[in-house]
Amino acid sequence: MQAHIVIKRKGNVELCGVISYGISSNVYILRDGKSALMVDSGYGPPYSNMLESLKKLNIKVDEIEKILLTHRHRDHINAVKQIFEENRDIKIYVHRGDAEVVQKKLKLDRDKLIKISNGGKIELKNITVKAIYTPGHTVGSLSYIWEDVLFSGDLVFANGMYGRTDLPTGNITRLVESLEKINKMNFRELLPGHGEIILRDAKMHVKAALRNARLKVKRKQIEVN
Ligand SMILES: [Zn+2]
Repeated sequence: MQAHIVIKRKGNVELCGVISYGISSNVYILRDGKSALMVDSGYGPPYSNMLESLKKLNIKVDEIEKILLTHRHRDHINAVKQIFEENRDIKIYVHRGDAEVVQKKLKLDRDKLIKISNGGKIELKNITVKAIYTPGHTVGSLSYIWEDVLFSGDLVFANGMYGRTDLPTGNITRLVESLEKINKMNFRELLPGHGEIILRDAKMHVKAALRNARLKVKRKQIEVN
């Protein structure tokens, strides 16, 4: 099940969300007129239906020009296949650390994938999104920032929760470093890969996650000693 919402409008620019209550990730869409970019695609059938979601949000699939992936996991990327059946012109953005796995999982032609690294900018009319390299959940995890909004993928969630680090290439120490990095940045809204979205005081949630993740590192060190 998903909720389809308009998170905010600013001039001609609209930020929409497909908020998931199941296996599929949340999906966010930034549009400026008839151009749109998507942050993660969700799982796709049978867990979500992005073509239906786009219809509900009044966005045509051929208006999607770019999909910015936060990381390699299927719940965030698999629906690219469904979307590609309707529009093959979309460019997919991913960090090089997760690029090969993404390419294999989606059976993508290499020229569809654009590798993006820390500080890289993705532009679409009046929208500029910046990539921030935030490994820890996976080695190629990216967050994206647009104005006051942080799209955090599975790095950090609402209420002090943070992403798993027990899956391949996960690393709790690097996750803590990534949380420290975004904790120094300016944003007010947190749009995570799963669960509740935060529209104010987002840094409080990041700080809580940082405290929790640091505690986990400490406990791990005690176990080792
Ligand atoms: Zn994940």
